[in-house]
Order: sequence, then C-alpha cells, then structure tokens
Amino acid sequence: MIPIRHALFAILFCHLFCNLSLVEAASRPNILFIFTDDHAAQSISCYGSKINKTPNLDRIGNEGMRFENCFCTNSICGPSRAVILSGKYSHKNGFYRNGNRFDGTQVTFPKLLKKSGYQTAIIGKWHLGEHMEPTGFSYSEVLVGQGPYYNPLMLRDEKGDGNRTKKRYTGYTTDIITDLAMEWLKNDRDQSKPFLLMFQHKAPHREWAPGPKHLHLYDDVTIPEPANLFDDYSGRGTAAHTQDMTIAKTMTPRDLKLTPPRYLNAEQLKVWKAAYDPKNKAFHDANLKGKDLVRWKYQRYIKDYLRCIASVDDNVGRVLDYLDESGLAENTIVVYSSDQGFYLGEHGWFDKRFMYEESYRQPLLVRWPGVVKPGQVTKQLASNVDFAETFLDIAGVPTPPKMQGRSLVPVLKGNVPKDWRKSHYYQYYEFEPDRRTSHMVRRHRGVRTDRYKLIHFYNLDEWELYDLEKDPHEMQSVYGQTEYAKIQAELHAELERLAKELEVPDDTGSVPKNPVYPKQKPRKKKTKKKPSK
Ligand code: CA
Repeated sequence: MIPIRHALFAILFCHLFCNLSLVEAASRPNILFIFTDDHAAQSISCYGSKINKTPNLDRIGNEGMRFENCFCTNSICGPSRAVILSGKYSHKNGFYRNGNRFDGTQVTFPKLLKKSGYQTAIIGKWHLGEHMEPTGFSYSEVLVGQGPYYNPLMLRDEKGDGNRTKKRYTGYTTDIITDLAMEWLKNDRDQSKPFLLMFQHKAPHREWAPGPKHLHLYDDVTIPEPANLFDDYSGRGTAAHTQDMTIAKTMTPRDLKLTPPRYLNAEQLKVWKAAYDPKNKAFHDANLKGKDLVRWKYQRYIKDYLRCIASVDDNVGRVLDYLDESGLAENTIVVYSSDQGFYLGEHGWFDKRFMYEESYRQPLLVRWPGVVKPGQVTKQLASNVDFAETFLDIAGVPTPPKMQGRSLVPVLKGNVPKDWRKSHYYQYYEFEPDRRTSHMVRRHRGVRTDRYKLIHFYNLDEWELYDLEKDPHEMQSVYGQTEYAKIQAELHAELERLAKELEVPDDTGSVPKNPVYPKQKPRKKKTKKKPSK
C-alpha cells in the first residue's frame, strides 16, 4: 500500500503542476516550422545567393537569426526527417536510408509537445513511409509518398486518431499545401492551445516542375555558372569519380523538361507546352555538343529549380502576411529549414548525399519576436539533430536523455554556452553491395570543425581532408600532406571520440571495396489496354 502522505504529496504535486501548465500553456509561443525538400542555402538571398532573390525567406532571416553553419547528420530526405522528429542520429532512430520505414512508436518532439498541451499539426510532405501514419499529431494532411508537383493525392487525419481520408486536389502542390496550412491556422485549430505546425513542401525536389505562375521566370536571363561546373575530381578519391549525379550524364529527358510530366491534366499540359515547346524546339535545332550541351542542361536545371523556389517564397510570404494580419506573429516562432542542401551545379552535380559543403549545409532561419534581435547571424555549429531539443526547450518541456542534440535556445538568445560543440559528426549509408543504388555515392562518415573536414569513405578505406579556409569549394584533399599532419591526427581522434560518444556501431565491413552488381533488367514497357468496345 502507498503511504497516505505519499499519496497526498502526489495529489498536491499534480495539482500544482497541472495549474502551472495551464498558466504556461496560455503564454507559450506557437511554433511554425516551414520545411522544404532539397533547398540549398546558396539559393536564398539572405545567405548571399548570386542566382536568385527570396524576399520572404529573407524576412524570416533578417527579422531573426541566420545560422551560417547548420549541418545535417545524413544528407538525404527521409533520414533527415527522422533525425528532426526523434532528435537522434540515424543509427539510433533506425531510419538510415530512403525506403526505410520510420518507427512511429519511438519518442518524438511532436508527441511530447502534444502531451504538454500543444496542438500539433503536419501539413504537406511526410516521406517517412507511405503507409506509416504520422504519430504525435492532433491533425495531419500529408502527401502520399514523394507526391507530384501538380494534382496531389493527400491523406487527412482530422483528429489524429488514425482515421484517414484520401483526397486528390487539382492545382500546383506548393500552392495547395499552403492553402491547407492557412485553412488549418484560420479555421481548424483549437485556438485555446499553443500550436506546432509543421508546414512541409515537396519543392524544390527533383524533377523541379515549376508552377503555372513561374513557367517563364528567368526566360530572358543567363544564370551564372558555378566555377567548378566542369570539375574533373582530380583532387579527390574514388567516391567523387564514381558517383552518378552529374548534370552532364545523369539527368533524364523528364528532368530536363524535354518530356512533360505525366501528372498534368489537359488544361495544365496546354499551359506547360506553351512554355516549354518553343524552348525545346530551339534546343533541338541548336544540336549542342560537349560543354555547350552541359551548359544548356545547367541553365534548364537551375532555372526550373529556382522557379520552384520562387513559388515556395511567394507562399511563405502569404503565411507571414497572415501571421501579421491576425496578430499571431508576435507570439509565433517561425523557423525555416530544409532536409539537406543540394548541388546547384557545383562539382558538375545535382542531388545531395556527400558530406561536401553544398549538400551538408542546411539553411536555418529563426524569427522569434521579442527574444531574437533582428539581423543576427551566427557561425556556431548547429545541426538538424538539435531541432527537437530546441522546440522542446521553447515549450518548456524537458528533453528525454536519449536525444542526441542540444537546444539552440541559448545560441538564439546570444548566450552561447562555453562548452558549445566544436565539431560535428556525419554519416551516410545509402549504398548497397548487391544492387545499384540511387546516384552511387559511397558510404562515408566524417567530422567537421569550424575550419577543417575529415571524411572517411570506409568501404574504400580512402580518406579526404579539406582546409575550408584555403579551399572552400573542396577541390583538393590535403590528406597525408606533411603540413597538415598535426590537424589530421587531431581530427582522427575527434572522429573516434564523437563516434564513441554517439554510440555509432561499426559499419566499416558493410560493403566490399568493389561490389559486383547484378545486371539491370530493362524495364518492361507498359502496354496500353485496348479500350473495350
Ligand atoms: Ca531532401
């Protein structure tokens, strides 16, 4: 039996805590987490983009804090989302590569926020397993799988009880996701509770299909090329030479809009063809070869990518305007980020995966009225593994000890703790020994400090070391050079220290150095059924 005085204490404690929660609940800030897929920081103007303008994303950065050095733990879509929800690295949350299924029974920050009195919603891209219900949300409406750029099929769960209804919408997906998010903010949410809204776009993911409003944006301009568009990888090892993600060779006719998307309806296809057919005819007539052909592909790719971002930016503007008009802005923290960075022609590439800067860095902009002074920029090392802890800290919810990041709140307040991290651990897993995998990027792990980066392609047993101050574009590994011997030894030790601290299992024997792949079977052509008479 429980002694009476213990029971009385428990009742009193609960009474005090519950009342405190109610008082706190009224004043706790709302969190609007705006998230995109594959949006590189080098295409956001407040990050110094030389190729486009993003006035609305800049509003968030300029009215709050811009993180110059936020890095993902595993540069690929699903895994990054799993890290953000769980606050744990891939080897702890179990989602290593796209195609895995997220274990929705584990502790996530939305679950804890919901438990503490927040109303939690996710609207847009989920991408953690098509048939896996998002858990920890009071409301969800998510794209099925990757989701198309037009006319998306979405799954709605209005009460967070697992009862989902399917609906196909007509229109451009970035606009539709925004309409749904605005609708939830205006009419559907419980206004007596603080909210977490995860507002997550498909854009600007491959195949970069622009919306009807932006089909002609950049038609009359030439976007500057990155200086290393024609990189020959001579300063790096096997992994850079054997990837399959070049603008020159990997892009498909559909990526390049030489073939229109399959998901357009007749009306949309007409508008699409009016925009692309004349440009495609000019391309075919020019009969480009060699570098001229690569340059054309780069222009086509980057313009479509930036057109998708223009649409994201416009729609973010709509939501920010609504926050202002409704008076919500004052007590709403707005966060902008993307699951990883992306190559915008640097090294001749598109896509992500590598620990090189362009795909390793994530944009992170945080506007927190009254707490973060406008115009702040920080170079402190931050990571997507910190997001969960940060949101919990903001809401005054204790962080579970198994989470592996750290709250960014002190950094946001300008009180950087003395023991803030000086190095960041990275690991990429999506490479299999027995089949060809997307883009063929070899498994690797590494450590980055403010100036140096050590990478180990462990199945190849090849090391690379970069001095980011002297070589910001990572063109020449200095691994093994005498003048870097000391820093190299320090980074080796730091990599092992971090792996031990994060309890990373040994994955070094996972893939043979030269895996033998089965021959790929040619895809069967779908035969059209004859219409029945
Ligand atoms: Ca992504």
